[in-house]
Amino acid sequence: MSTKDIHVEEGAAMAIVRAESHTAGGGRRLALHSPVTGLPIGAVDVDDSAEVARVVTRARAAQPAWAARSVGERAVLLRGAIDVISARRAEIAETIRTETGKPMAEALGVEIVPACDFLNYWSRRARRDLRPHRQRLHGYLRPFKQLHIQYQPLGVVGVITPWNAPFVLTLNPVVQALLAGNTVVFKPSEVTPRSGEWVARVLHEAGVPEDVVQVLRGDGETGAALVDSEIDKVCFTGSVATGRRIASACAERFLPCTLELGGKDAMIVCADADLERAAAGAVYLSMFNTGQVCMSVERIYVIDSVADEFIDLVVRKASAVSCGPGDADMGPLFWDRQRDLVAEHVADAEATGAEILVGGSVVPGEGLYFQPTVIVGAHHGMRIVNEETFGPIATIVRVRDEDEAIRLANDSRYGLSGSVFTKDRARARRIAARLTTGSVVHNDAAVIYGVPEAPFGGRKDSGVGQVNGVHALRGYVHAQPVLIDRWQPKHESIWYPYTDKTIRDLDGLIRAFGNRLIRRLLS
Ligand code: NAD
Repeated sequence: MSTKDIHVEEGAAMAIVRAESHTAGGGRRLALHSPVTGLPIGAVDVDDSAEVARVVTRARAAQPAWAARSVGERAVLLRGAIDVISARRAEIAETIRTETGKPMAEALGVEIVPACDFLNYWSRRARRDLRPHRQRLHGYLRPFKQLHIQYQPLGVVGVITPWNAPFVLTLNPVVQALLAGNTVVFKPSEVTPRSGEWVARVLHEAGVPEDVVQVLRGDGETGAALVDSEIDKVCFTGSVATGRRIASACAERFLPCTLELGGKDAMIVCADADLERAAAGAVYLSMFNTGQVCMSVERIYVIDSVADEFIDLVVRKASAVSCGPGDADMGPLFWDRQRDLVAEHVADAEATGAEILVGGSVVPGEGLYFQPTVIVGAHHGMRIVNEETFGPIATIVRVRDEDEAIRLANDSRYGLSGSVFTKDRARARRIAARLTTGSVVHNDAAVIYGVPEAPFGGRKDSGVGQVNGVHALRGYVHAQPVLIDRWQPKHESIWYPYTDKTIRDLDGLIRAFGNRLIRRLLS
């Protein structure tokens, strides 16, 4: 891990991260400021492309020895990180809270609890999911060949992550890549570098060798240098715009990449929903983590016949959400760019005909607080319905019926996740089948990311590939089929020389496919 000092800078204007100055060596330095007070909380020296190359070279050198350990051995080491996290949870939470201003309940509940669960789950599952195995062959090859599948690590994996859940969103892909036998170089967001850095720290303290998991510091320039370096896969979580840039850099080199991008998740409230739960869910799932969650509920479609009652409940519940420093329900937005974007979306909604029933404004004062907000009368001509807002806004649209709700929910360039509130499980599944989203949750929403066995990943502009589920873990290996000889015929009927018999045999085989019984035998 490149451990650089955190310098405290004086007298900066409120901003969460901005180019500050140059280091003595001429490198770039970024200043960090608290989203709660606006005061300086440190600075980060940016790793340039030469440093990125050095770190990746060390990672490559360390990879064969790491891969030579069994999956079980790697799992034991990684599981040990749970004890480290448990012992150091107060410090980790403190770092996360200093950089983001999250309430303690969110530092623990959104970051540290799921991190322990992911470590536990993946380190228990990996042996089974990465075990070489034999797979039954179909058809006429069966007497002659055996198929074995074995999993080879890819090499060095680059992981690039955002600021909204900086600890857990970094830890989850890093742990999977390590279990699969890769070494990892990761770059947390420049907005939350020290929260991300804890991932390397807890793994090192658990006994993972230093060069097996290394952290880089810096912004997009460092991230781009990592993508351009001699790595074998990129796992990126962040915005659509950056994801597109990374995808095109990877395409040039045929570098595999997993892209977990933004969302504009819709919640559908059916006429038979438990309206108390739906309203509580609408408020919490739009506003927890100050709405800065890729799977936040960003659009709510409620069936007209229950809309009045639902909206009354949402207004009552949203009005009771406390917002401010300390342990209020809701913390600040994590950086000034985000606060400005949320304010723009709300202003655009108001200017184009929406009604703000609760909140709607930046909270005056030092921190980057935005009032818990409820908007009704929204429509698809508004930015707040079309673009990712990433703020504490419950935006409600009335719809005639479920068909209209589904049509509007699908009318988005995003397709990350979605939710359906109904008392009828079969209805939930029917609606889910018509939604063009990566996942759907019944009577809940963002919890899906915390279900490691669920193959979570976006559709449309929300991404490519999965970050959870067995496909995610196996995304860090090459599945190598090895075809082993069982029995050799005296003469391979398709090998040289081609004769009339070759043609007759092949022709006979094609004709045999015309027979239903033989088809079944060959399947
Ligand atoms: P971002 O794209 O600005 O930055 C993400 C990371 O990429 C940061 O570490 C940044 O330094 C780095 N980066 C920036 N430019 C780069 C480049 N050209 N090459 C390589 N790396 C580069 O995103 P953000 O603002 O940090 O995060 C918010 C976004 O992340 C939202 O859109 C949110 O929906 C999305 N997100 C998605 C998920 C998910 O699982 N789908 C989870 C959390 C956040």
